[in-house]
Amino acid sequence: HPSAPSLMMNAHFAAVGEDASAQDYEHGIQVIDEDKVFNQNLSTYLNLEKVIPAGFNYHLISVFGSQSTGKSTLLNYLFGTQFGVMSEQERRQTTKGIWMSKNKREDSARGMADNILVMDVEGTDGRERGEDQDFERKSALFALATSEVLIVNIWEHQVGLYQGANMGLLKTVFEVNLQLFVKDTKSTPRSLLFFVIRDHLGTTPLANLQNTLIQDLSKLWSSISKPTGLENSQIEDYFDFAFVALPHKILQPEKFEAEVEKLGTRFREGYNDPKKSGLLDESSLPVFLPQYHRRIPADGFAVYAEGVWDQIVNNKDLDLPTQQELLAQFRCDEISREVLVAFDEKITPLEDKQAEDARAGKPSVIADLGTAMNAARSKVLKEFETSASRYHKGVYARKKAELESKVDTRLKALFQKQLSAAHKSGVEAFSNAVSQAVKIGQKKGATYDFAHIVESEKKNALSKFESDAHAILVEGAPWSSYKQEMNLYQKDLDDVSGRLRKEEMRRLATRVERWVRSRLDESIGLEFNKIGSGRGGSGAPEHGEKPPSEKDLWDRVWIIFTETVTDAEKRFTDRAGSFDASTEEIEVGLWRLRRKSWGVLRAKIDEEVMEGNILLKLRENFEDKFRYDEHGVPRIWRPTDDIEGIYTKARESTITLIPLLARFKLSKTSAPPPLDAWIGDAPASVLPADEEDLSPIGGVDEDEGKSLEEEMTVLSDGKQADLLVRFKKTADGVYVEAKRSAIGGMTQ
Ligand code: GDP
Ligand code: MG
Repeated sequence: HPSAPSLMMNAHFAAVGEDASAQDYEHGIQVIDEDKVFNQNLSTYLNLEKVIPAGFNYHLISVFGSQSTGKSTLLNYLFGTQFGVMSEQERRQTTKGIWMSKNKREDSARGMADNILVMDVEGTDGRERGEDQDFERKSALFALATSEVLIVNIWEHQVGLYQGANMGLLKTVFEVNLQLFVKDTKSTPRSLLFFVIRDHLGTTPLANLQNTLIQDLSKLWSSISKPTGLENSQIEDYFDFAFVALPHKILQPEKFEAEVEKLGTRFREGYNDPKKSGLLDESSLPVFLPQYHRRIPADGFAVYAEGVWDQIVNNKDLDLPTQQELLAQFRCDEISREVLVAFDEKITPLEDKQAEDARAGKPSVIADLGTAMNAARSKVLKEFETSASRYHKGVYARKKAELESKVDTRLKALFQKQLSAAHKSGVEAFSNAVSQAVKIGQKKGATYDFAHIVESEKKNALSKFESDAHAILVEGAPWSSYKQEMNLYQKDLDDVSGRLRKEEMRRLATRVERWVRSRLDESIGLEFNKIGSGRGGSGAPEHGEKPPSEKDLWDRVWIIFTETVTDAEKRFTDRAGSFDASTEEIEVGLWRLRRKSWGVLRAKIDEEVMEGNILLKLRENFEDKFRYDEHGVPRIWRPTDDIEGIYTKARESTITLIPLLARFKLSKTSAPPPLDAWIGDAPASVLPADEEDLSPIGGVDEDEGKSLEEEMTVLSDGKQADLLVRFKKTADGVYVEAKRSAIGGMTQ
């Protein structure tokens, strides 16, 4: 838009309060000088006069009339202003351009309205500016665009002089009014034309003068060309009229002053409906009706006035609605910047803190963030609303949305970062709390309830997060919700729970494996010990029971082993079930348990058949058979005894144990136990991590290249041969000893 630069470029508020003093503006301010230049200090002046914060609570009056008709004098009397007046001696023009001054006689006792600004417009008289009607038109436009009341100052003797200078002026005012306001009929403001008739002699009553003027005005109105559609419009559609007559100032000074005093009381606020004012006496009705007000907020007046003047001077089509929108944009942006200063002061340190924490890699939780954000947001929006809502509604709404989005972008970032910090530290705290509780449970030795620990710590973690998140909700902000984050948090807690449960499963597995080891250690040890007590030996079986046969050693080992593991599986399943492990997890656990248990058994067997151990057992087995008779009574060797025969029989019997011990096989089938079937296939849900620490088992893990037969080989052929040799030597020793003792017994 062509007028945009002039609105935007002038930093009206930069000079406010700087070096400006009331003395500089003793006579008011020359808003527009004789060269039609707009004064850049208007804002400074309005600020000095404390009008800026008034909002709509101010009023504008302009005075029109021929030169030297006592306009400035009247204003000075009415409002205590100090507009320049012509001295009685030199009669030349004093008021040049347009001056403005604030009412100096503001005082509530007289009932005058607040913040009345009076504009004294250069006399409009051919004599003053030659034939130049240009300024007259421009100042009329300017006055109409800004003022609520136009005072038309005329001598009594000018009334009825239809061709006079005043009529020229009024014609201009009417034309300009049509040009300005009729385009936008909805928002056409009315104006009050306030005729002040000077030097009223009193011979013609005011009512007559008034009638004459109204007739002239109507005639004038009908003579001007009107836009299409408004040909039949009446002057009253746009203007209200008021009339007052003042006595001659020089001839009747006291009366003049008294009447001016009385006139002053009319510059007060009124209602659109005159009856509401409670005064039906027309001569004292208030002049400031709401409908006259141009609705330019005081803090935007200087910018608006300059924009309007700029348009006028450049002979552009003065489009007031557009001017108001431009003003609104300018002021809303300015107000937005102003209110953001305090917002920045509060919010930037919080942002810095988060950034600093982020660099340090620690979760950033700011105490009272919620309070700070809520306060900052509501303050900045409230302040914006207070100042900016007076401007053009559409622009205001747009600018408010812009500000909100600016503010919310930053608050949302703070909000989200704090949430993610709460998330991070919450998950960590949860994991630590569970581990800690498990540790305490383990120390106590009692079977702690893992599921319960997880459940209650999760509840704690969720409610902590919830309350942390709730504390930073920002009222009225559409983004202020943590539902999604809460779901994510819950999901993460579930993941961590799963991981912790896996750890707990591993701990459980270790405990159960330890249990299996100790059970097998004892029970398998016992079975192997039985080898040492040969048939009819000292370890004779109790009454009625069949003595254990070496032949079914492996059957018994297999039964003990599988029963032990079944027991262990039950323990594992019960415990794992108590903390909500899944069927898959339990399945994998049991599969691992069987494999590991087999390893434990295999190690135990290896220990039992270690050279020294097995040799000792074979010797004991042999000795039992050799040194005890079938009733379990120790033999006392006599020379007549068939020592050699008994020796050979016992030795051969024991020797048969070696191949028996060498292979783990069941007596019924002569085949290895069905280890592969018993362990079973790896469950579908098994993970590589579950297999990491498992040793391969022959016949079960096909790709290991080791057969079940090999897995079940307890003693290799070489070892068997070696064992045989050693055993024979040992047996030989026993035999020699027996032989000696027989001979010894005889010699004794
Ligand atoms: P302006 O040009 O309309 O502003 O007129 P001024 O206020 O400067 O006054 C012009 C002259 O008229 C001065 O000499 C005043 O003393 C004189 N004057 C002011 N008020 C009145 C009045 O009410 N009646 C008469 N006859 N003279 C006045
Ligand atoms: Mg003057």
